[in-house]
Amino acid sequence: MSTKDQNNYRTDLTTRKCRKCGNVQMTCQSRRVDFLSVKSLFVCPNCEAEVTLHSGGAKGVHFAIGMLAAGFLPFILWGSRGGYTGIVILKTLGLIAFLTSPFLWATLIAQLYPITGTRSKTVQEEAAAQIDSTTDDLLKKGIASMDKLSPFRTFWAVLFFVALFLGVASLIGWINFTFFDDQLFG
Ligand SMILES: [Zn+2]
Repeated sequence: MSTKDQNNYRTDLTTRKCRKCGNVQMTCQSRRVDFLSVKSLFVCPNCEAEVTLHSGGAKGVHFAIGMLAAGFLPFILWGSRGGYTGIVILKTLGLIAFLTSPFLWATLIAQLYPITGTRSKTVQEEAAAQIDSTTDDLLKKGIASMDKLSPFRTFWAVLFFVALFLGVASLIGWINFTFFDDQLFG
């Protein structure tokens, strides 16, 4: 892995235990921004085993989106006017399992490679950190900052923004209905 492959996102300085050979000095070789997450490639210096791990914050986002989708989809797909029957509950549980599986999988993988400690930055990483602090790309900054948050915090952040969105939408609806006689949008 050349230094060119190392990107500028906050360096992951944790060391992890290799699942294959038990070496406790697996280190992060590169990080890249993926859809809603930061992925870290950990490589074992002993047996060269590789594993890609998601940032903690991204797992919370995946979980929240999965749960929200699982909350809404049953109404759209199957309706529930007649109340929940056993089969609908089973289908809903299946849907939740399906939609949250990326989160569960990412969590499971991380569990298989437990953190064993931290290391100090290499010279190249110090240099990369300098560049990082001057980046103007807001999207990359936002995604990288999610990296610092725990899954718990991002999970509630997503729910908060959805609640806020629904709250604003209801308020607009209420204003439209109350003051504009439902004519605000034509
Ligand atoms: Zn190994």
